[in-house]
Amino acid sequence: MIYLDNAATTYPKPPSVHSAVASALSRFGANPGRGGHAMSMATAEEVYRTRAAASDFFHAPGPECVVFTMNCTHALNAVLKGLLRPGDHVVVSNLEHNAVMRPLHKLAERGVTYTAAAVVPGDGDATVDAFRRALREETRLVVCTHVSNVWGVRLPIGRIAALAHQYGIPVCVDAAQSAGLFPVFLEEDGIDYVCAAPHKGLYAPMGTGLLLAADGSALDTILEGGTGTNSVSLDQPGELPERLESGTINVPGVAGLRAGLAFVRDKGTERILTHEVGLMRTLHRALARTNGVELFTPEPDGESFAPVVSFRVRGVPSEETASLLASKGIAVRAGLHCAPFAHRAFGTLDSGTVRVCPSAFTTGRDVQGFVEAMRALGRNSHAVHKEKL
Ligand code: PLP
Repeated sequence: MIYLDNAATTYPKPPSVHSAVASALSRFGANPGRGGHAMSMATAEEVYRTRAAASDFFHAPGPECVVFTMNCTHALNAVLKGLLRPGDHVVVSNLEHNAVMRPLHKLAERGVTYTAAAVVPGDGDATVDAFRRALREETRLVVCTHVSNVWGVRLPIGRIAALAHQYGIPVCVDAAQSAGLFPVFLEEDGIDYVCAAPHKGLYAPMGTGLLLAADGSALDTILEGGTGTNSVSLDQPGELPERLESGTINVPGVAGLRAGLAFVRDKGTERILTHEVGLMRTLHRALARTNGVELFTPEPDGESFAPVVSFRVRGVPSEETASLLASKGIAVRAGLHCAPFAHRAFGTLDSGTVRVCPSAFTTGRDVQGFVEAMRALGRNSHAVHKEKL
């Protein structure tokens, strides 16, 4: 199989992640922080090591700023629903995933409103201006994706955070597509909340998510329950991360996350980015010369455009293109990619797109295989088109 659906979740995972998960099942099989016995304590230590590694990776003030969640959606819900109150206004970008838009839509029932700032791809100044114009007196939060999961457009998060902070507004960045490729630093970028999907560019197992909060004290809980601490009280503990981590956490996933973080750190995010951008440039150029293919963004440059390419074949539903590719053993994703907002911005809401995204494991041969399959489909789509005429 040629797997090019890495924007959904990366595959394969590094061998070190496999062994970390397998070894966690035997070495860290007790509930962390719930028992005073040796294995419970060893498990708690492993969880702490991962917290510290994530804190280092995202330049958070400390391990206590790292909350393990089920996925990035959970982390985003924890910020949006933990922070926003009736009457509050939120500024988002017009490229947001449903992991942001659906919770906001739900919060609208409680009187939260939002304005979408129109990102100008490749133009940081115009994008920041759009965010500035969207701010209001009652804006309580700015939420923006770092990299669009559909178009690969990269947003200037540091500048957006600086703008919001001029007005005392906190910023939440959806780093689902960027963590592991681009730096996302709480301290240097001045980001208040980072939500990440480690099962993507950090090569962790599915079922892992991260919320990093420089100061989580403003976040109310969206889930209450056992934390293993101060059990006599019915009040949820006040301290992070316990306050936002009720119930048993995904320890094998957390151990796999530590190995994934080490994999990315050892390889280097810049090297991974350069590798992926090189592959996607080749792929983009080949697609641009393929019969019937419509592209919507320039070649990925690793600056304004991340290595994600979305396209469609004129007159062919994107799902059909994807299933023809699947029949040749090539895995890509078709449709709206859970981001109808991002499609509306580019005029592809009716058709969706076929999305291709590599990982550190993708090779030039994989890309070549994809290009040849697309050329064959292009020839066929041309023939079908002519027949129709
Ligand atoms: N945000 C973006 C930009 C995404 O691409 C995704 C997943 O595709 C998410 C959020 C949600 O991530 P998760 O599936 O980990 O909840």
